[in-house]
Parts: sequence; C-alpha cells; structure tokens
Amino acid sequence: MVSVRILSRSESGMEEKHMSLKEYQKKRRFEVTPEPQGEPEARPSSGKPLAYVIQKHQASHLHYDFRLEWNGALLSWAVPKGPSLDPAVKRLAMQVEDHPVEYGGFEGAIPEGEYGGGTVMVWDRGTWTPEVPDVNAALEKGDLKFTLHGAKSKGSWVLVRTRGFGGSKHASWLLIKHRDRFASTKDITLEEPRSALTRRSLAEIARAAGGNAEKAAAGDLPDLKRADGKKADLRKAKDGTRQSRAARSSSRKGMRSK
Ligand code: MN
Repeated sequence: MVSVRILSRSESGMEEKHMSLKEYQKKRRFEVTPEPQGEPEARPSSGKPLAYVIQKHQASHLHYDFRLEWNGALLSWAVPKGPSLDPAVKRLAMQVEDHPVEYGGFEGAIPEGEYGGGTVMVWDRGTWTPEVPDVNAALEKGDLKFTLHGAKSKGSWVLVRTRGFGGSKHASWLLIKHRDRFASTKDITLEEPRSALTRRSLAEIARAAGGNAEKAAAGDLPDLKRADGKKADLRKAKDGTRQSRAARSSSRKGMRSK
C-alpha cells in the first residue's frame, strides 16, 4: 500500500507525552534529501495556534500525509485516499512517525531511492483546535475529535483508532468528517488537486525541483476507478485541458529521464 513503516502508538513513545524526532531523523539522510531535519528534541511552542497540514505525496503510491501539531511536533498519519468531506466515508489513516513542525512547509522533491522518494505538495494547511479537554488522553484512547481551519478542509472531524486490518498488528485509524455545514459529497481531492501554498500541480513541483515529473504527474491524474461514471465524466470534461497539458509535458520529460 503505502511506503511507510507504521508505528503503533506505543512504539512512537506517546505514553511519555514526549515527542521524539529520532525515528524521523533515523529514516532520512539529510545530506541527500531537502526535507527539514528539525531539532534533536521537539519543544512545544506555547501560545501559538496549532498548525495543521496535509501533504500530497507521490512516492511509490500517491497518498496524503495528514499532520497535526502537538507538543512541538507533527503527529502524522498516511491517508491513502486523502480526506473526504462526506461523513458517510471513513478514510483509512495509518499512523507514521512524528515529523518536525518545519516539515509542514516542505514542498519539493525527495530524491529517488531515499525514504519517501518522490514529490511532496502542501495540499492543505491552516490550524486546528482540539474538541477534547485532554489531547494526550484522547490519543491514548484512540478517539480524537478536532476542528480544522484549513484552506480546503474545515469544520469538525474525528480520528478513531481501529483494531487494524488485514492481520496487521499495527494501529490504523479512520479519518471521518462530522456532520456540520462543511460536510459535503464534493470530492476535494479531485476538485482541488493543487498546492494550497503555490497552486502548483505535483508535476510542476517535481519539474521545478529537478524531480521525476513523469512519476509526479501520475498523482495529478484523478483515479477514475474511484468515482462513479457520471462523476468521472464531469471531471474529465472539467480537467481535460490541464491534464492533457501535464501528460504531454511529463511524457516528454519521461523519455529523457527513463
Ligand atoms: Mn508520505
């Protein structure tokens, strides 16, 4: 599925309520990857609103990295299909290692062969507010309710830990939109595919960063299998111009880089 090692809550040391970035740093070679290294130890930044970001990441597979600032780090989940505004839709969210807060501003290319090699887009960003009195307790319990104040995702949401699936002993969570005025059946991953930071597509980000634009462009194309026929047709008509341009350009680049 997703090219990330899945950490259970206990493995990531959450019980200590101390955010360590060791796991994050151990996985990456900072002399090679442009990703931010972060501090050796995460330090809570008091008083400021808590950051929220979703990074669209075309690695071995396209996924969306959902991150909430907590205790000076970014709690992180890999969401293969991205968030859904439809309260009837539960999206699998696999917890991954905590990331440095600076990571939330990272948009660019991770060299191929490195951990998470591919293209990263700041797909959505903003702040979040807990809807629970004790976030640590909510995380331990596996039921965190919160409000997002993002450019694309707003309103009330919940992350619920599940028993896991497919025989995996690792913790997986479900990301679910609560019913409120921001709930919708609109598919934001398809209708708002571009960067919240720079309005660029994945292919444009990859090209600017000297990454693999052909591979990145695959993440710009909507997965037609996901939608019903009518929706897919609408989308094709709407996005046709942009997609064919991206596809033409990426195949040109692809011939050279492959
Ligand atoms: Mn990722």
